[in-house]
Amino acid sequence: MAKPKLALYWASSCGGCEIAVLDIQEKILDVANAFDIVFWPVAMDFKYDDVRKMEDKSIDLCLFNGAIRNSENAELAHLLRAKSKALVAFGSCAHEGCIPALANLTTKDAILKWVYKDSPSTVSLNGGVYPQTHTKMPEGEIEIPEMWGTVKSLDQVIDVDYYVPGCPPQPFQIWNVIEYILSGKPLPPKGSVLGADDKTCCDECPRERKEKKIKKFFRPYEILPDPNECLLDQGIICMGPATRSGCGALCTKANMPCRGCYGAPPNVVDQGAKMVSALSSVVDSQDPNEIDEILNQIADPLGTFYRFSMAHSILKRVDKI
Ligand code: SF4
Ligand code: SF4
Ligand code: SF4
Repeated sequence: MAKPKLALYWASSCGGCEIAVLDIQEKILDVANAFDIVFWPVAMDFKYDDVRKMEDKSIDLCLFNGAIRNSENAELAHLLRAKSKALVAFGSCAHEGCIPALANLTTKDAILKWVYKDSPSTVSLNGGVYPQTHTKMPEGEIEIPEMWGTVKSLDQVIDVDYYVPGCPPQPFQIWNVIEYILSGKPLPPKGSVLGADDKTCCDECPRERKEKKIKKFFRPYEILPDPNECLLDQGIICMGPATRSGCGALCTKANMPCRGCYGAPPNVVDQGAKMVSALSSVVDSQDPNEIDEILNQIADPLGTFYRFSMAHSILKRVDKI
C-alpha cells in the first residue's frame, strides 16, 4: 500500500520549527518510514515546480510553518493548500504571526528605511539602496518576492485545518500529533488546536500562587526569583494566565517567565487583553495615577503581551498599507 504523503514548508520563519521536527530524534526515522516525504526544501532538494505538477489533494499532510509576509509566502500557501488534504499551521508564526508579526507595530516603509538606510550597521551609499522586485542584470532579470506591509497568520491567507502552537512546538507534542495521524484514528474536528491542552500554563506550573499584590515590576535579570513562588507574584511579567497549556510549563520550571508562545487559552479572543485583565488583579493600588506609574514600569507592553499573537490580535491597522 502506498505511504501517505507528507510535505513540510517554511514561510517567514526563523527555522526553529524545522529544527523542532528533527528534535523528535530517532523517531524521525519512523516518520520517514511511515510517510513518503514529497516536499521539504530545508532538508532535501525539492523545487516548487515539483509541487505544481502534483495532483490537487495528493499530499495527505502538510506542516506549514512561518508567517505570511511576502508574495512568495502567499503563493506557496495557496499552492500547498490546493495540493494538501490536511494542512496544519505549525508553530506560532503560522498560528498567530509570532515574532514576524511584531512588524505590524510599524510600517513597511519604516522597516526598509531602518534596515537599508539608518541602522548603525548600514553603510549607505547614495542614501541607501532598497531591494527591487525586478532587477535587470547582464545575465537576465532577477525577481525577488514583494514584501507585504502587514504580516499575516496562515489562516488570514488560506483555509487552515489544524493548528499546532508553540515557538517552536515541543518535540513530544509534535510526536503526539504525528503518532495520532499514523494511528489512523478519525481526524479531530477542523480548526482544532493539536499538540496542546485546554487549560492555561498556570495550571501546569508547579509554582505556588498566592495572588499577591505588587507595586513594582522587574525584568527577569533584575532579581533572583524564589524558585517555588509564582513569578507574577514576585513582580515578573509571566504570561502564564494568558497562555494555553501543553508545554508542561517548561520556562517557569527553568526559573524564567512564560512568554506566551502557545498562544491564547481556549475561548480567549485576544491574548494581550487577557494578560492585561490578569494584571489588573495583581496591581496594588486603586489610585489611577499610581496604577499608571506601576504599569509604566512594564518594558515594551505591546511586544510583551503580543510577542506571539500580534497578527491574531484585535488590534488592527486603521489604514491599509
Ligand atoms: S514559531 Fe518560533 S521557532 Fe517556529 S519559525 Fe516562528 S519564531 Fe521560529
Ligand atoms: S503566572 Fe507564571 S509563574 Fe505564576 S503560576 Fe502562572 S505560569 Fe506559573
Ligand atoms: S512556558 Fe510559555 S513560553 Fe515557555 S514553552 Fe511553555 S508556553 Fe512557551
